[in-house]
Amino acid sequence: MKRVTCKKCGRLFALAMAVLLMIQWPAAAPEKVSAATMSSITSESIRDKEQQIKEAQKEQKELQNSLSDLKKIKKSLESKKKDLKKYIAELDASLEEIEKNIATLKVKIEEKEADIVQTEAELQEALTNENNQKDLMYSSIKMLYEQNEASLIAMLMTAEGFGDMLNRADYAEKVLTYEQRMFEDYKNVRAYVELCKQQLETEKASLDEAKAVVEQEQSAMEELIEQKNRDLTAYENDISDQAKAIREYEAEIQAQKEEIEALEALIAEEKKKILAANGVILTYDGGAFKMPLAYYTRISDDYGWRTHPILHTKQFHNGVDFASPKGTAIYAAYDGVVVAAAYSSTMGKYIMIDHGSGLYTIYMHASQLYVAKDDIVVRGETIAAVGSTGRSTGNHLHFSVRLNGEYQSPWNYVKK
Ligand SMILES: [Zn+2]
Repeated sequence: MKRVTCKKCGRLFALAMAVLLMIQWPAAAPEKVSAATMSSITSESIRDKEQQIKEAQKEQKELQNSLSDLKKIKKSLESKKKDLKKYIAELDASLEEIEKNIATLKVKIEEKEADIVQTEAELQEALTNENNQKDLMYSSIKMLYEQNEASLIAMLMTAEGFGDMLNRADYAEKVLTYEQRMFEDYKNVRAYVELCKQQLETEKASLDEAKAVVEQEQSAMEELIEQKNRDLTAYENDISDQAKAIREYEAEIQAQKEEIEALEALIAEEKKKILAANGVILTYDGGAFKMPLAYYTRISDDYGWRTHPILHTKQFHNGVDFASPKGTAIYAAYDGVVVAAAYSSTMGKYIMIDHGSGLYTIYMHASQLYVAKDDIVVRGETIAAVGSTGRSTGNHLHFSVRLNGEYQSPWNYVKK
C-alpha cells in the first residue's frame, strides 16, 4: 500500500483510505453503469439555457472591458482636472500679484497728481510775481522816458545845481536796474517751476503707461482664468458623465450575473429531474470540473511530491489544499452520485462523489455537510461548507481526484 499523506492534515491516512475503498469504492459498478451520458440525455431546454449562459457571459465580458475603459478615461479626466485646478490656483496667485502692482501704481499716480496740482499753484504764483514785476518795471521805464522827453531842461532847471541833477539821473537808473534784476529773478523762478511741472508730468505719463500695461496683464489674466474655469466645468461634466456610464455598466453587469445565476439554477433543477428519471448516470462525459469552492485565499499545498521543509523527507500530497474562510461554500465539481458523506478522524467531515467511468472526487475537513449518501448532485451544487475538522491545522478544503483507484492531479480536470 502506497503511503499517502496530506501535509496540511499532518498525518498518514492510508489505512483509512484503504478500508474506505474496500467498503465503498468498488473498482467498477456494472449494475449502475448506463450507456447514456449526461450530454446525450440533456434536454433541448437545458442546451438552450446553456447557450444563453454562454452568450450572457460573452456579453458580460464585453461590458466589463467597456467598464474598465470607462474607468481609465474617468481616472485620466480626474488627473487632468487636478492639474487644471493647480494651474488655476497658480493663475489666481499671479492675478493677485498683478492687482497688488496696480494698487501700488495707483497710489504713486495719485501722489504724482497731487504734486502736479501743488506745482501748478506755485507756477501760477510765480507767473503773477513775474507779471507784476514786469508791469512795475515797464511803468518805471515809461515814467523815466516821459520825464526825460517832456522836460530834460525842466529837470535840469529844477535841480539844485549840477550835482543834484546828476544824482536824480543816477537814482532813476538805480531804481530801473533793481527792478530789472527783480524781473530776471522772477522769470528764473517761473522757468524753474515750469520745468518742475514738466518733469512731474513726464513722471506721471510713465506711471500711467506702466499702469496701462499692468491693467492689460490683469485683463488677460482674468480672461485666462475664466477660460480655465470653463475648462474645469467641462472636465467636471465629463467626469460625471463617465461616472453615470460606469454606474449603468455596473448595473447591467449585475443584471447579467443574476440572469446567469438564474439560468444555472434552472439547469441544475432540470438536470436533477432528468438524472432521477433515467437512473444514476455513471459515465463521465469528459466535461470540465467546476472550481470546488466559491472562494479561497491561496493554495496552501498543491498536488504532487513535496520535500518536507524540516524533515527533508519526500511526501506525496494527493490533492490540492485551498485555504479558505470557514463556512465558504464547497461545490460538487461535476454531476454524480454521493457515495460517502460521513466523518472520519483524519478526513473530518468529508464527501465522495462518483462521476462514473471510475472517476471520483473527494472533499475533506468540512464544517458542515449538506448532502447524504446516494444523493444525486449536479456540477456546481453546494454540498458542504469549509471547515477544519479531522486532522487539520486551519480552515481549508482538501480536494482529491481519483481515476480507477489512482490519484490524479485535480488540475487535469479543473481549470485554474
Ligand atoms: Zn491536504
